Amino acid sequence: MLLNQQLVQQFVSQAVMYGDYEVEDAIYIQNQLIRILNASGIDNTSIATLNESATANEITQYWIQNAVDQNCIEDVLYQREIVEAQILDLITPRPSVVNREFNKAYKVSPEAATDYFYTLSKRNHYVKEDAIAHNINYDVETEYGDIEITINLSKPEKDAQQIAQAKEAPSSDYPQCALCVENEGYVGSVLQAARSNHRIVHLMLGNQRWAFQYSPYAYFNEHSIVLSESHVPMKINQQTFVNLLDFIDQFPHYFIGSNADIPVVGGSILSHNHYQSGKYVFPMDNAAEVENFKIVEYPSIQASTLNWPMSVIRLKSTKKNELIEAATYVMNQWNQYTDEAVAIRAYSNKGERHHTVTPIARYRHQQYELDIVLRDNQTSEQYPDGIFHPHKDVQHIKKENIGLIEVMGTAILPGRLKQELRQVKRYLLGESQLDIGVHQQWAEKMLQNYDISSSNVDQIVDNEVGYKFKRVLEDAGVFKNTDQGQQAFSRFINSL
Ligand SMILES: [Zn+2]
Repeated sequence: MLLNQQLVQQFVSQAVMYGDYEVEDAIYIQNQLIRILNASGIDNTSIATLNESATANEITQYWIQNAVDQNCIEDVLYQREIVEAQILDLITPRPSVVNREFNKAYKVSPEAATDYFYTLSKRNHYVKEDAIAHNINYDVETEYGDIEITINLSKPEKDAQQIAQAKEAPSSDYPQCALCVENEGYVGSVLQAARSNHRIVHLMLGNQRWAFQYSPYAYFNEHSIVLSESHVPMKINQQTFVNLLDFIDQFPHYFIGSNADIPVVGGSILSHNHYQSGKYVFPMDNAAEVENFKIVEYPSIQASTLNWPMSVIRLKSTKKNELIEAATYVMNQWNQYTDEAVAIRAYSNKGERHHTVTPIARYRHQQYELDIVLRDNQTSEQYPDGIFHPHKDVQHIKKENIGLIEVMGTAILPGRLKQELRQVKRYLLGESQLDIGVHQQWAEKMLQNYDISSSNVDQIVDNEVGYKFKRVLEDAGVFKNTDQGQQAFSRFINSL
């Protein structure tokens, strides 16, 4: 394979503009491209097939396809991704420069700093905007306000060959996990993500070293990850509130939250302490305050419950330290709280802890806000997956743990639903011979409840998916929105 001279020049000019290089580095960059793509040289006779405004990423994708077609790269997803990250690393400044530029921009404003880093992360295709655009997104109106549905179609599927290679591959403990800082610049393998073009910004939170990076497959605007510089397990304690509010002080235009630190009610990675942040207003942010109350020992804190399917206590104050104290108090009270009447138990008979919280921090109307979502991870004979987890009859839509993003009212639903919902719609329109598997009961109910036609079927199914997600959140809520549940919630609040 030969690389077109004109495209190489276009790429080199972007490496000089955005990366660490200067004009004198042109031949050096050209030879890096030849090495990475397994090419044999330069073609200076034919005309480029991409136009002059092609981005470095567009040129890269074009070369990778050519390299695959000419057997210079194996046609397996992870090999393509390794090559892509290595090429786009050439248009990315090295980590120290990124940190210096970030801090320089921060002196202008926190927004200027995150804008700089986000633009860089999109330009070098670390954040995969084109893949994210494949997701299906819409809102559904409920009694809690609008909730958001996302059917996640952004992550490319691994092909059979890669799955087979992964089975054979020896496991490696470097980097220790997908969130470890050792991923910065890591080449990747069949088991580990390609991270040559990955960059991290270093932060101090609560006098400890933390790292900040964007999420390649974002679920919301400027979806970012704040991670501990050491590989230590998820832990929600007073230090968590200190760290979250310290981040909010430094980036008041972002929210930040943490997944819970115990199984069933947390996120997918419990082994590495991390938070998620971004520039986004979630449905829960807009949930109406229902009951305002005072916590005796912290009279300056405004506390309230929310009109929300999960059980949330919102604390607001202009005084950061008092807010941290009050949040810690609420969390500690919850972690010890048992109410047998509504099946809430802080500990198992064997002394295993069942309670924790999902905390979210933001700065709004000149004060700090902390939303503390109460969680309980018990299982029972009736609910082996979790008493406060999506129950069997809604698992055909969502059976995974209800983590931070869902808690806030944004459903991240599996990609399989795109095809399955299409089948359900055909079934509803009369193709009753179709096998719609796990969705059968739901479809029968829709047929009973609606007069379905081709003009309203999309709207009905979209809304019904939203109502299922609402039920998913209600299942995960510890105090139900029933008289009995709300009386139990009041008992907890009165105990504060
Ligand atoms: Zn780790």
